[in-house]
Amino acid sequence: MKTDRVAVIGSGPAGLMAAEVLSEAGVGVDVYEAMPSAGRKFLMAGKSGLNISHTGSEHDFLMRYHDYSGLFPDYIGSFGPDQVTAWMEDLGMPAHVGPTGRIFPESMKASPLLRAWLRRLADRGVDLHLKHRWTGWTPEGGLAFATPEGAVTVQPAATVFALGGGSWRRLGSDGGWAELFAAAEIPVAPFRPSNCGFTVDWSERMRDQFAGAPVKGVRLSVNLAAGGQETREEFAVTARGVESGGVYTLSALLRDAIEANGTATLWLDLLPDMDAGEIARRLTAAPAKQSLSNRLRKALNLTGVKTALLYECADREALNDPARAAEAIKALPLVLTGTVPLDEAISTAGGVTWDALDEGLMLKAKPGHFCAGEMIAWDAPTGGYLITACMATGRAAGGGVLKLLTC
Ligand SMILES: Cc1cc2nc3c(=O)[nH]c(=O)nc-3n(C[C@H](O)[C@H](O)[C@H](O)COP(=O)(O)OP(=O)(O)OC[C@H]3O[C@@H](n4cnc5c(N)ncnc54)[C@H](O)[C@@H]3O)c2cc1C
Repeated sequence: MKTDRVAVIGSGPAGLMAAEVLSEAGVGVDVYEAMPSAGRKFLMAGKSGLNISHTGSEHDFLMRYHDYSGLFPDYIGSFGPDQVTAWMEDLGMPAHVGPTGRIFPESMKASPLLRAWLRRLADRGVDLHLKHRWTGWTPEGGLAFATPEGAVTVQPAATVFALGGGSWRRLGSDGGWAELFAAAEIPVAPFRPSNCGFTVDWSERMRDQFAGAPVKGVRLSVNLAAGGQETREEFAVTARGVESGGVYTLSALLRDAIEANGTATLWLDLLPDMDAGEIARRLTAAPAKQSLSNRLRKALNLTGVKTALLYECADREALNDPARAAEAIKALPLVLTGTVPLDEAISTAGGVTWDALDEGLMLKAKPGHFCAGEMIAWDAPTGGYLITACMATGRAAGGGVLKLLTC
């Protein structure tokens, strides 16, 4: 069926934002979604507080992104933290800024925000078609969907793909589109895990006693000598390795190192507020008859999982020498042996390559078809950077469609 309406496929933040821009301009929009309800990953992101954006200068904000090119900085420049905040307020959801600059809706949850957003889109005439899985193009260039009632085809005026990345498939973003795109000769870079956990060959003791333990008050770094990155955030020990917080922040560099070398070293500073000289002095002053664990506890307040990490990753004999112990405490090498499976990653790098898209995010190989969100090959840490970029590219793709329709 030929229509003058625009199809948006995918009801995550990227697709809904494209629908918003289009409907605001008076264009009829149909949103197609494979799942029985909209925005499932967005809702999951809000489960423990929807970190939707992050304060900071435009430059600092952009520095968080990897693998971008083209007009990506312009998209983020036109819909960055200030615009996200104003947009939420316009939906009746004031923003709350956390102590480290993370921006959340005041309610913290995603569900009231998503409800208000869907209501506004419905009021503007956006039709949401659930349980509609896009299965490819028809020979005439239309869109084919599988639905519970059978196959459906439509021939919209333009299409925005906002199909998400390739992780957490149970929420709908199964990356199945990548094969359909590749078959249409659209360049797609392989999915890679991002904001993901890593595996470590823990000793049995570490696994049994400390799986699930948070590691707080530490500095983490990777490859600083070659211009790497460091962060002061907590992370968690898991039965398989490490995850969350600072590990996610450094995950792109750690993943790249594993891909290149088979393993990566995550350097831990267990006492970032004390220099090595002071650590050595305190250990030297501790009574030699005390056990090593007691000296670490009494002189340095190092206990529990931090001491366990020290024993796990340092030469145990060397720890009896205060200077060498101080060295290990300040730069403890934790060897990561791999990433957790792709489906468990918070987000995925890879996807439609930038050279496949024009400046309005239209596929060069498929005029009239646009892309937005995590399905494009950019990468970013959690902290609100992901959702902000999804919304910003959703706006850009919606703007690209408007430009095409008015040409
Ligand atoms: C546990 C968790 C926590 C997170 N926390 C944060 C956070 O705090 N801050 C942050 O910025 N980001 C966070 N993220 C990441 C963020 O949720 C995603 O980056 C974002 O949702 C991607 O938006 P999108 O619109 O590109 O794709 P998605 O939200 O993945 O939406 C894509 C939609 O397309 C649909 N779809 C896929 N294929 C088809 C098809 N063939 N036909 C029809 N529909 C299809 C899917 O069902 C899905 O609804 C988190 C993710 C997870 C999993």
